[in-house]
Amino acid sequence: EFATRARDAQPELNAYITIATEDQLEQQTTYARDLALKDAPLDLAGIPLAIKDLFCTELMPTTCGSKMLENYVSPFESTASSRLLQTGAVFLGKTNMDEFAMGSSNENSFFGPVRNPWHKEHVPGGSSGGSAAAVAAGLCLGALGTDTGGSIRQPAAYCGITGLKPTYGRTSRYGMVAYASSLDQAGPMTRTAYDAALMLTAIAGPDDRDSTSSAEPVADYLKDINKPLQGLRVGLPKEYFEALGEGPVLNAIMEAKKALEQQGVTFVDVSLPHSNLALSAYYIIAPAEASTNLSRFDGVRFGHRCNSARDLADLYARSRSEGFGAEVQRRILIGTFALSAGYQDAFYKQAQRVRRLVKNDFIDALDQVDLLLAPVTLGAAFRLGEKTDDPVSMYKEDLFTIPVSLAGLPAISVPCGTADASGTSLPLGMQLIGNYFDEARLLNVAHQWQ
Ligand code: GLN
Repeated sequence: EFATRARDAQPELNAYITIATEDQLEQQTTYARDLALKDAPLDLAGIPLAIKDLFCTELMPTTCGSKMLENYVSPFESTASSRLLQTGAVFLGKTNMDEFAMGSSNENSFFGPVRNPWHKEHVPGGSSGGSAAAVAAGLCLGALGTDTGGSIRQPAAYCGITGLKPTYGRTSRYGMVAYASSLDQAGPMTRTAYDAALMLTAIAGPDDRDSTSSAEPVADYLKDINKPLQGLRVGLPKEYFEALGEGPVLNAIMEAKKALEQQGVTFVDVSLPHSNLALSAYYIIAPAEASTNLSRFDGVRFGHRCNSARDLADLYARSRSEGFGAEVQRRILIGTFALSAGYQDAFYKQAQRVRRLVKNDFIDALDQVDLLLAPVTLGAAFRLGEKTDDPVSMYKEDLFTIPVSLAGLPAISVPCGTADASGTSLPLGMQLIGNYFDEARLLNVAHQWQ
């Protein structure tokens, strides 16, 4: 039923790049039984899920939203997808995304933009826009996304769903096509915090095949999900609210604050003084890592190959120019420049120092409180085409999500209020930011608030 619904909504929303055939759905069930992994921690038999098209899957193609990988079928399965398959869940399809996860609106996909289910002329956010739209439109019960600088949280806010970016290292990156390896993290996008807890339970935990996955034992995300919030201390980062200013997002967050106070939560102001430097540091670090990660797409071992190359240099140049879209090429150029001899100290190393300062800010703030409450975005989903000609305004979409990514902390975007736009009301979100490996608390607060 969900598969039919997904297919029917395709012309309107374009949320999927690949929708599983009957055969592929069937194969997944048999395939799951053969996976030589640990026993599944829970039973999600028959639950229809979707998965962002950058997780390698053996039974469906993995395009990463790019012409470069248009026809690529991976010979192996990502850890996150195999762990979900092991619980008995099925993937209805691979969701649309910004090419190589670079973007905030899903307009950078080679397969065309995704539309926001709440208003078709508005973007769903990005880069996990297909996953967010599919969940919001009821085309699946939950979806896997990835977040490097905000790609789970921002589209979740724009589509009115819940999206959790776990602590860096909590979920395995094995089999995820890499964008910026020191930031990339897989996480659940669902209707409720409870569903997010279920999906996180399935995918979290150490993995021998990802050396950056953490050995920290996985918490029980369901045990305390109903715990009363009485006595909890929440920090409000003052720099975030200064940058946000008046408007519907502030109003919605203040409403939420009031409701949480009634549940016994106390609020205090905290300071994250280096917040204004985070965006610039991210747009050096992420492109730097991307430029090296994407060097593997050379038209020889992987990816699109141009016709009748004259020599090797021509093969590289033309395959990459034809295979990568404009935004990906821009990031590769920025990254290569930032890492080049003579500029590395001025840009890359400086950005790493800023990253440390941003991280220390959070450590200090989280010494005083249990978690932080912040905005996810400056406003509601913008219109398709509104920011396509202005990369810097697009980059600013991640103002409130990027600092958390640089610090490697967990954060959840939870639906919170609405804003009027285009004659309708569009959903907004709020962001709860927790200490390292404190996902259980974020899920508890989000669940009690919902
Ligand atoms: N919008 C940010 C970028 O383009 C974040 C994307 C992401 O988290 N994958 O880099």
